[in-house]
Formats: sequence, structure tokens, C-alpha cells
Amino acid sequence: MEEKNTSSNFIKNIVIEDLESGKHKEIITRFPPEPNGYLHIGHAKSIVLNFELADEFKGKTNLRFDDTNPVKEDTEYVESIEEDVRWLGFEWENLHFASSYFEEMYNRAVHLIKKGKAYVCDLSGDEIKEYRGTLTKPGKESPYRNRTVEENIDLFERMRKGEFKDGEKVLRAKIDMASPNINMRDPIIYRIAHASHHKTGDKWCIYPMYDFAHPIEDAIEGITHSICTLEFEDHRPLYDWVVNECEMESKPRQIEFARLNITNTVMSKRKLKALVDAKVVDGWDDPRMPTIAGLRRKGYTPEAIRNFCREIGVAKSNSTVDSQMLEHFIREDLQMKAPRTMSILKPLKVVITNYPENQVEMFTVENNPDDPGMGTREVPFSREIYIEQDDFMEVPPKKYFRLFPGNEVRLKSAYFIKCNDFVKDEAGNVVEVHCTYDPETKSGSGFTGRKVKGTIHWVDANSAVSAEFRLFEPLILDEEDEDGKTFLEQVNPNSMEVLQGFVEPQMKNAKPQEKFQFFRHGYFNVDPKYTTPEKPVFNRIVSLKSSFKIG
Ligand code: ATP
Ligand code: MG
Repeated sequence: MEEKNTSSNFIKNIVIEDLESGKHKEIITRFPPEPNGYLHIGHAKSIVLNFELADEFKGKTNLRFDDTNPVKEDTEYVESIEEDVRWLGFEWENLHFASSYFEEMYNRAVHLIKKGKAYVCDLSGDEIKEYRGTLTKPGKESPYRNRTVEENIDLFERMRKGEFKDGEKVLRAKIDMASPNINMRDPIIYRIAHASHHKTGDKWCIYPMYDFAHPIEDAIEGITHSICTLEFEDHRPLYDWVVNECEMESKPRQIEFARLNITNTVMSKRKLKALVDAKVVDGWDDPRMPTIAGLRRKGYTPEAIRNFCREIGVAKSNSTVDSQMLEHFIREDLQMKAPRTMSILKPLKVVITNYPENQVEMFTVENNPDDPGMGTREVPFSREIYIEQDDFMEVPPKKYFRLFPGNEVRLKSAYFIKCNDFVKDEAGNVVEVHCTYDPETKSGSGFTGRKVKGTIHWVDANSAVSAEFRLFEPLILDEEDEDGKTFLEQVNPNSMEVLQGFVEPQMKNAKPQEKFQFFRHGYFNVDPKYTTPEKPVFNRIVSLKSSFKIG
């Protein structure tokens, strides 16, 4: 792969410093998803960052499932995440589950209790919140804060044994209720949840909180640089407190970067799951979803996603990226890779009245004019063809150079045809156009007799293959949180248009996930879910042109 990320960023600078100073001999990063949904393009940013950072300095990256919350996690998500990371082109050094560290985490918590640094608290969730104070008001100490070590050990053991109900007790770190950083005001580190876990089953009924579990996971694995998103910046003192007070041998360093947001979509597993559950979309891999599975089904390539992630870079302040930037990278990638072909999305029949009945001609057409290596194909032509409804007008406006009565156009790779007549149905719709062709104008014959202003595409009606086309618009309308609207109310009701049309006969052999450039219509992917041997279904990945400029 020549696509390497050579650009510098503040995280890379930290890594370089740490290697030069001898603080670390080897860089170890991790990608730590919670298996409570499918990965999205925001995760891709984190994946590319973590894997490429380690790779650049000959280090390692672990894939670690942060599965400390039994209620929302599922093996389906674990499998999809592994598939997506691999598909993006990355191979992890080790595969870990946070849940396999539960015993060690428990022991570290007991150690904290013995040091007088943690206590069992009986306050309710609401009371804990109330006692915590605010940014301007210091917190109040829990009446259970000064339990003896013996009592805390006994209660914590009994919490583990299942003697208490959910919410009846928690284990809290004993730090500082007056700290200006609210995260340091005796945060909860263990809670009771009588729920089956996808990996540990019913072995545990107490589960560690993220802020306690994550630094321990990182330290156990010897992670040198623990990269996370900006909202954890205020949690860093707690991260360091846990590493130090739990006396972890290895001391990982947390570094925060800005999360990726993209216009006209949502980017949180909770919201994406809501779209799936409400059946607004056709599953996590619906082509309109910003999930990796959705982008793949729409027709995105790993190369395009990786290049996008590199281009947006790594910064310290949050911003929103225009979705057109993602489109730029798939166009760029498919330009050379996707064979050209003609397709008719909204068919209108054309009869070429002076063309002999029963005659079929084959035109040899290049698959990609930008790359002769991609070969040619045979495109049949006969008396009846389909063109786009938009390519004919009974009464043309100014500057309309396509078909209208009396006008002549070029049929891409075939002949000039001239419109003489048309047929309407009872409702007044044009259902058939009658033309004559000029045999002199055959494509490739070197004809220079006259010029026409319009070139339109077509498929031979006799041999065409019926196909379905799915065109997409943004899933979320741009009116952000207007009048307190929830994002489900901002869903675009017209985010998908389904059309029935035709493709060239050789498209019978198109395989799921194959990508094509349809002349004038854009890049399309063969949908792996709805395509049948009789009828291909094509998802539009992106149209051909955009006004968007990079940089
Ligand atoms: P979500 O809110 O979508 O569930 P999350 O941060 O809770 O996201 P995790 O599964 O915990 O999801 O995330 C795994 C890793 O991916 C974390 O290191 C997280 O920081 C990173 N990540 C998640 N969303 C984004 C994003 N939009 N941009 C960059 N990194 C992200
Ligand atoms: Mg999360």
C-alpha cells in the first residue's frame, strides 16, 4: 500500500518524544469499542489513528471489547466489529475482552478498600447525584464514607455474592468531595447489576464502571498511549488516580482528540440503534447508515474510508465535516477501478423506424477510457432501445440539446438518431419516441460530416436486463434540534428513491459488491442483500460530480 499517512499531528509528536527520550521502547495502542452496536465512520477515524500510529513506529495495536455493561452488549456486535476492522484493512496484535479482567479488577478494588481508598455506599443514585454538588458548589460527604476497612471488605464481598438488589449499594473511590473536578468527587467504581453477560454469563452481578475499568484494562495490556475522544479530558485525573492507586505496573497515558461529526447524519450507536429499532432503516447495514457495514453495502471501499480518515486528521477541537468530503474520496478511488457501463433508470422506449427488424449489431466499447487495461465489452444495438425519460422533451426549453421533435443527437458509442414522432398514452405521457438513424454516423467510423450538440446513453431493449436502482439522499435533515425536535423527527422521509429500469446484458453476471460507473448517473454497487440471479439491485454510491473542493 503506498497510501501512508506522512502528515504530522500532536499525538504523533508525543509518541516521537516518548521514543526519543527512552520512556518507551515500543508503542502499543488499542481500539476499545463497546460491543453495543455496529461500528460507524467515527470509529473508523479512531481505528485508522490507532493502528497507523503504532504501525508507523513498528508497534502493536490490540482490539479490545470494552464489555463491562452486560445489559446492552451482544455477540452479534462483537462479530460485526471484528469483521469491520478487518475489512478496513487492519489486523490486531491481540484480541481482548475487558470481561476477562473482571477478577483482576475485583482484586484491585479490594486492594483500594484495604488502603482506605474505596468504600461501599448505600446512598441511592439520586442522593449520590445530589451530594455530588455542582461546578460552583462543593460536594457533601456520604454518611457511609467512613466505614471501616473490615466492614467495606465484608459488604463488597456480599455485593459480589448477590446479597443485594440492583442499586442498593455501590463501591466508590474515596478521593475528594471538594475537588473542583466533579469526576474526582468519590466516583462510583462498581455497581450491582443482576444481568447475564454475553461472555461471563451469570458469574458476576457486580460490574466495574468505565472510569475504573478502562485504565486497568490499558495498564494490564501495557498500552503506552490510550487515545480517546475529547469528552474524557476531564476524566484524565481519575484515569491517572486509578492507575496509581491500583498500583498498576505499567502506566499508560491518556490522550484525547476530537471526535468526528459529519453533516446530515447521526453518529452515536444509541441513535443508530434507535433508527434500526424504529425500522426507519433496513438494519444496521442499510446503505443510508453511516455505519461501516452500511457504507460497505452502499459501495464504499476501505481505501476511500482510510483516505478520508487521514485527510480529516487529528485535532484538539470538535468540528463537523461536510459529508461531501467522504464522497470526494470514493469518487477518487472508483475513478480508475470501476468499469463504465450504460444503464437506464427511468426508461422511455425509442423505435428506430429505418433500422431493419431482427437485425442486431455489436459495438465494441471500452470499459474504462482512463485505463485501456480494463478491456472492452460488446454492446448490442437493434431497432428498439431505451433512453432516459429526461432525455426527451416534447417542447424543449432553451439550451436543451437532447431529443425533441426534429432534433438529432448522438447515441453514445452507436449512431446519430433524429426524432420524427412520438406516441402518448391516454394520460398524456410520452410512451414511445420514433426516430431514424443515419448509418454514415456509426461510432468509430471517423464520420465528420456534421456535428450534434447532445450525446445520450441507451440500452438495447431486446437484450437489456431488468434492474432496480436505489438512489439515496441524506438520512437526517439539516434543521438541527429545531424546536426541541428529536433526531427521529428530523429523519428525511425521502431518503431513498427506488427505480425500475434496465442495464446492459453483460450485467447479468454482476456479482454482489461489484462496482460500476453508470454513464452520467454515477457510481453504483451491486446490493448484496436484494440482488437475485434474475434481477440485480444497484445502490448509488455517489453521483459523478460535485462542487466540493478539498483543502
Ligand atoms: P458511541 O457514542 O457512538 O457509542 P462511543 O465512544 O461510546 O461512541 P465506543 O465503542 O466506546 O463508542 O468507542 C470505541 C472507540 O471509538 C473509542 O476510543 C472512541 O473514542 C472512538 N470513537 C467513537 N466515536 C467516535 C467518533 N465519532 N470519532 C472518533 N472516534 C470515535
Ligand atoms: Mg459508548
